[in-house]
Amino acid sequence: MHFDIIVLGAGPAGSAAATWAARQGRRVALLDKALFPRNKLCGGLFTERSRAYYREIFGQDIDLSNAVTRHEIAFWHEGRELAVLEDIPPLHLTMRLDLDNCLYQHALAAGAKDYTGRAVAEIGDHDVTLRDGTRLSADILIGADGVNSILARHLFGAPFNKDTIGFGLEIEVSPETQSPGAHPLRIDFAAATWGYGWSFPKQNSTTVGVGGLHAPNPDMKGHFARYLRALDLDPEAVKVKGHYLPFGDFRPRPGRAHMLLAGDAAGLVDPITGEGIAFAMKSGQLAADAACDALDANDPVSALPRYQTALKEMHRNLRIARTLRRIIFAPRWQKAFIGTFRRSGTVRMQYRRLLAGELEYPQLARSVLARLPRYLLNTVRR
Ligand SMILES: Cc1cc2nc3c(=O)[nH]c(=O)nc-3n(C[C@H](O)[C@H](O)[C@H](O)COP(=O)(O)OP(=O)(O)OC[C@H]3O[C@@H](n4cnc5c(N)ncnc54)[C@H](O)[C@@H]3O)c2cc1C
Repeated sequence: MHFDIIVLGAGPAGSAAATWAARQGRRVALLDKALFPRNKLCGGLFTERSRAYYREIFGQDIDLSNAVTRHEIAFWHEGRELAVLEDIPPLHLTMRLDLDNCLYQHALAAGAKDYTGRAVAEIGDHDVTLRDGTRLSADILIGADGVNSILARHLFGAPFNKDTIGFGLEIEVSPETQSPGAHPLRIDFAAATWGYGWSFPKQNSTTVGVGGLHAPNPDMKGHFARYLRALDLDPEAVKVKGHYLPFGDFRPRPGRAHMLLAGDAAGLVDPITGEGIAFAMKSGQLAADAACDALDANDPVSALPRYQTALKEMHRNLRIARTLRRIIFAPRWQKAFIGTFRRSGTVRMQYRRLLAGELEYPQLARSVLARLPRYLLNTVRR
C-alpha cells in the first residue's frame, strides 16, 4: 500500500503531523504500536502555548473539562517554601490518556488511515513493515515515535545520546494515599541534580515526579524516594515508572532527505521547564507542512531543508534555554539563583511566565544579561 506520508507514532507530534497533512488532502498512514486510548508517562502540564498551537493545528479549542486549571504555583527548595506565585496565567493539568486520544481522534477525523495497535517489524528508507506482515510505503516518512524513535535509530544508529539525555520518574497518587487538602501545584528545585521535582494535581489523582539530566543522576530512584518522603508519601507503597526525556537534547539535523523527525524523536523538549507537548505538536505541524510542500514541488528529498528552515526559531530558543539553564541548575550556581529567586519579584515573575509559555527565551536572555553584573557581584560577596 502506497501513501504520500507515513507518520510513525500517534502522540502529540504524530497526531498533529497526520492531521495537518491529511487536511491538505494528502494520503496519510498513521502508525502506532499502541492501541488508543493509551497512556504516556508525563506530568500532563498543558500551557497556554500548547493551547494556542492546539487551536491553530486542530482548528478548535481544547476541551479542558477533564483537566484541572490552576492560577497559583508553589516553589520549594530543599524542604523550604521559596514562594507561592498567585494570579499566574492558567496552567492546565491534563491526563495524557485523554489528551492523546483526543489528538489521535482529530487525525482520524481529518482522514488519516489508522494503523494503530500494530508493532513495526522493520523500517526502510521508503517503507515500513508491520509485525503482521503488512507492508506500507510512502514518499515521505515522519518519525514522531518518541524518545526511543526507531526512525532516529534507522537514520543515526541510536535514538538519542546517552550522555546528554534526561530521565524522569513518576507515580500517580490516589486521593486516599494523600493527606486531605494536599493538592498543591508545586515545583521543587534541586530534587534532582540538574533537574527538579513536581507535584501536579489532577481530577482523580496527583502526578508526582522527579526528573533531570540522566548522567549526573545515577541514583534517580534515591532522589525520588527522598522527594516522596518530603511530601509525606511512602516510597515503598507505590509503583514507580520511568521514561527518558530529551531535556535540551535536540537534533540540529532532524532527519535525512525525505525522512523527518518530530517531537521527542527530534529532541524538542524545553531544557529548563521540561515542556514537550507544545513543541511536539508544533514540530509535527511544521514537518507535515514541509512534507506537503516538498510533495507539491515533486521533490520529496527537499523535505528536510524545508523543515530545518521552519524549525530555526524553535532551535534558537532551545539553544538559548540550554545556555541559560546553567544559571538555574548547575550546582555551583544554584544557591545564588535560589537566593535571587527568593528576593526578586522580577525573577519570579519571569519564571512563572516561562512556565506558562508566555515568555520566549531571547527576551529572557536579554533581561538575564542586564541583571548579570549585579547577580555575579552578589554571588562573589556571598
Ligand atoms: C516524566 C515526564 C514528565 C513530563 N511532563 C511533561 C509535562 O508536564 N508537560 C509537557 O509539556 N511535557 C512533559 N513531558 C514531555 C512530553 O511527555 C513529551 O515531550 C511528549 O510526549 C512528546 O510527544 P511525542 O508525540 O513526540 O512523543 P510521545 O508522546 O512519546 O508519542 C510517541 C508515540 O510513538 C509510539 N511509538 C513508539 N515507538 C514506536 C514504534 N516502534 N512503532 C510504532 N509506534 C511507536 C508510542 O506508542 C507513542 O504513542 C514529560 C516527559 C516525561 C518523561
